[in-house]
Amino acid sequence: MYIIHIASEIAPIAKVGGLGDVLYGLTKELIRQGHHVKVLLPKYDTIDYSRLQNLRVHYRELWSFEGAYSYNNTIWAAELEEITLYLLEPHHPRYFFTRGTIYGCADDIERFLYFSRASMEFLFKSQEKPDILHLHDWPTAAVAILKKEMYETLGLPSMRTLFTIHNLEHQGRCYPQQFSLTGLKGESYLTPSTLQDPSTPYLLNLVQGALVFADIVTTVSPSYAKEIQTKAGSFGLLTTLQQQAYKCYGILNGIDADAWNPANDPYLPVSYSKENPDTLSANRLQCKKQIQQELGLASSSAPLLVSIARLVSQKGPFLLAHAMRYALAKGAQCVLLGSVYSPDMETFFTTLAEELLPAYPNQVTILLTYNEALAHRLYAGADIFLVPSLFEPCGLTQMIALRYGAIPLVRKTGGLADTVFDQDDAKIPPSKRNGFCFANPTTASLQDTLERALTHYQNSTAWQKLLLQAMHYDYTWTKPAQQYIQLYASTIKAVTL
Ligand code: ADP
Repeated sequence: MYIIHIASEIAPIAKVGGLGDVLYGLTKELIRQGHHVKVLLPKYDTIDYSRLQNLRVHYRELWSFEGAYSYNNTIWAAELEEITLYLLEPHHPRYFFTRGTIYGCADDIERFLYFSRASMEFLFKSQEKPDILHLHDWPTAAVAILKKEMYETLGLPSMRTLFTIHNLEHQGRCYPQQFSLTGLKGESYLTPSTLQDPSTPYLLNLVQGALVFADIVTTVSPSYAKEIQTKAGSFGLLTTLQQQAYKCYGILNGIDADAWNPANDPYLPVSYSKENPDTLSANRLQCKKQIQQELGLASSSAPLLVSIARLVSQKGPFLLAHAMRYALAKGAQCVLLGSVYSPDMETFFTTLAEELLPAYPNQVTILLTYNEALAHRLYAGADIFLVPSLFEPCGLTQMIALRYGAIPLVRKTGGLADTVFDQDDAKIPPSKRNGFCFANPTTASLQDTLERALTHYQNSTAWQKLLLQAMHYDYTWTKPAQQYIQLYASTIKAVTL
């Protein structure tokens, strides 16, 4: 099967969060399972080009459109390990992808609409004939619409579209005039059955459009697939999601087994694995000591709580703050590594740091930055890994934590509920328990669970047993990739029947 992913991120060269990890891990696994896969993304100036091999011009003079104007583009090709990438470079006066950032520009809608149209133009003119176009979140949602509404009539060879919702909170709302820049007439899509935004009827909604026009829709965990079919979880798109439910599926994300492997992780001071239980505890302890030293924390056997996240409201900032205050008061150590994208969040966590750092010297670190290498060392050194999200479509950090033997403490929602099973839950067989969960997004509920985890930590034999059970979970891509293949195959078959 030939699959082209059109996306805005791929780890490790263009990653903001889990979307980048998914593109990297899923693509690698699809290739490993014998499929022909490429990834098309913008040629950002922020890409780490040193990690690419054989960067070359693949297609010159790709003229594409923005409203009445046409602009030249170059398609580059390169290898990221075994993955072939196509990188689209627009020669456009607004320098869409040389802004030093992937998202966060005032004209993000225009940037990604331009990319979507140019991507389709590339497929059309270069005679690429993938069986499947796999699209991801609002930045490439318009591809599903353009493919159906424009390129099929222009004679594009048969290909099917699969749209994956990684996070329904972001939907790409735009004015009809902005959408018209793609070449489709924006005003004619102001209808509830196509792109009209249900809550702001004078706007269009790109994700709603992809739900309508894609052949298959997936989201990133079975629980999130159910949650988005409820009023609270649908972010306003309930009617469309219910209408399209017949083609919606939930497939749990995986993590890349090579990128996240404590037995062979170049960022760690010492490796360890569940296959070598004799050295596991000692080597993990060495990782903990190293990270304590690196971050100026006391060398102590107190439990080390870690959280690594994009700090947005979805991640439950008030719960994170409460967990840190409570754990520190109980004598634990805490590290927060968080990327901030808004002044509000920056103020919230800077204020928290100003409160906690002087009160608990050498016991807490708050780093408001993105740091891949440090993240690896933190997964390896952490005892408890906090994910108190208000909602979480899948969540990768808890799966990485499990693989590294850091016990996740999570809110029971979305993919967190599908992957973490509470140590004290009588409904879960004892050998399947791998962490701690709380149901209500309240400080009281979180605190009770944190208390249980801290108490459990005091019993080192019980903790080691839990840690080994956690590390035995296999949340890698093998099975999810097979599920995607089945869906790809089913939609191709539906056409040929
Ligand atoms: P989301 O996609 O909502 O950001 P996920 O849990 O799906 O959340 O994926 C987050 C990914 O980004 C993980 O690989 C995590 O390690 C990484 N990550 C998040 N914030 C940071 C950070 N500040 N520094 C390094 N890595 C980070």
